[in-house]
Amino acid sequence: MHTEILQIKNFIDGRFVEPITGRYLDNIEPATGKPYSQVADSDAHDVDLAVAAAERAFRDWSKKTAAERSNFLLRIAELIERDLEKFARAESIDTGKPISLARSLDIPRSIANFRFFATAILHTESEAHITDNVAFNYTLRQPRGIAGLISPWNLPLYLLSWKIAPAIAVGNTAIAKPSELTPMTAYMLCEMAREASLPNGVLNVVHCTGPKVGSAITAHPKINTISFTGGTATGRKVAEACAPLFKKVSLELGGKNPNIVFADADLDAAIAGSVRSSFANQGQVCLCGSRVFVERSAYKDFVERFIERTAQLCLGDPLDENTEQGAIVNRTQLEKVKFYVDLAQKEGGKIALGGSAPQAPNERCGEGYFFQPTVITGLSVSCRTNREEIFGPVVTITPFDSEEEVINYANDVEYGLSSTVWTQNLSRAHRVAERINTGTVWVNCWLVRDLRVPFGGMKQSGVGREGGEEALRFFTEPKNVCIAK
Ligand code: NAD
Repeated sequence: MHTEILQIKNFIDGRFVEPITGRYLDNIEPATGKPYSQVADSDAHDVDLAVAAAERAFRDWSKKTAAERSNFLLRIAELIERDLEKFARAESIDTGKPISLARSLDIPRSIANFRFFATAILHTESEAHITDNVAFNYTLRQPRGIAGLISPWNLPLYLLSWKIAPAIAVGNTAIAKPSELTPMTAYMLCEMAREASLPNGVLNVVHCTGPKVGSAITAHPKINTISFTGGTATGRKVAEACAPLFKKVSLELGGKNPNIVFADADLDAAIAGSVRSSFANQGQVCLCGSRVFVERSAYKDFVERFIERTAQLCLGDPLDENTEQGAIVNRTQLEKVKFYVDLAQKEGGKIALGGSAPQAPNERCGEGYFFQPTVITGLSVSCRTNREEIFGPVVTITPFDSEEEVINYANDVEYGLSSTVWTQNLSRAHRVAERINTGTVWVNCWLVRDLRVPFGGMKQSGVGREGGEEALRFFTEPKNVCIAK
């Protein structure tokens, strides 16, 4: 029987529309290496259509009350929750991540994003200042217009909803571009927006590659706000495109995050937490701790037990309920992982676990992009493997002798996204957290999220902060009104 392959169309002005070129790109399932749908091969002309729709929609949407906008967002959250299982399955097929992870983390957090911003806008405060006896100042925070939202493939719905929800909650309209590698859940989100009767043009999604559609968004003079999450090299291009047009830009970029284990840590918790922070989503989370540092007196014990735990991770078909390690997102990323494992050996590292592609977990996955969780020891802190983002299931473990030394190790990279510290010494936890140059420091935990806190990176991990109040501010323009007394 011939089954027709799904074509993921653009969503513009409340309708699913063909790309103007009429062409589509294959969308490959990472677990099988085979196309399972197609995605619109759009270009700048499709972005123009989306801009026209977003501009029209802005007039009414920006005038709605916060409560009206809130209700639309709450309805979208409710609909995703209703279809949680469908979303989790789609995300697992699209990305190669274990379905249990999509079900327990990505999709619930996407729902939480809509709920959080839907309710946050009901509780904002206005600022007013009495200027001696002279004047009264108050600040209006107005929506900025059309927001361009560009996101990567590793947590597709979660990261896109993290941008869409605050952008439209405060009254902007949006043009979103998901990664061309993982467009499925964004497509499904548009179905939910339609079912929720979100007014036409408030949310538009244009699919295709970054150089074609991403750069058309960053270059478009009518899109004055850009929120980008992706790699540092791409972030640089986005910054270059936006600077001459004076766009307001937020950049959430790559990381090479330190995971520091002091000998006074609860070692059981540190090992369980480190296995998770090393290999969640096959190490393809920007916040994964890819550089593990262990205080020398605990090093041998930690390495042995860490390897033992990691070796037990169940690598398999992402759609299998027991799978803990799924597929790498595509062939290019798999080749990158292999390149760094080779490089690590040339740099003197020892592969203590993994280091190669495993046997296919089943027949369906015979040509999928799998790689074993890999642990490398014996590397110098300054080698390339320890400085460059790999973004795969590869960690290095290095011993250290003092707090001062490990703080230097942690900070001696170009990135500054997140870090994790394992210790039971409270003073040390505060001391070290203060001195590590990363946007987030987790102590005795990892990936715990509170949507109210500012999220973002230091150094080459990004510019600006997202989350909570920061996002509401980012997507609005403050205007001061000064009235003489
Ligand atoms: P990427 O930079 O290749 O792509 C990200 C997005 O940008 C995609 O939608 C892509 O199509 C688009 N794009 C590519 N070229 C563009 C251009 N010239 N102009 C505009 N858009 C363009 O990143 P990726 O490979 O999809 O994702 C992995 C990277 O994302 C890793 O570096 C990871 O650390 C980072 N990341 C960061 C965070 C964070 O919060 N800091 C979160 C997740 C992922």
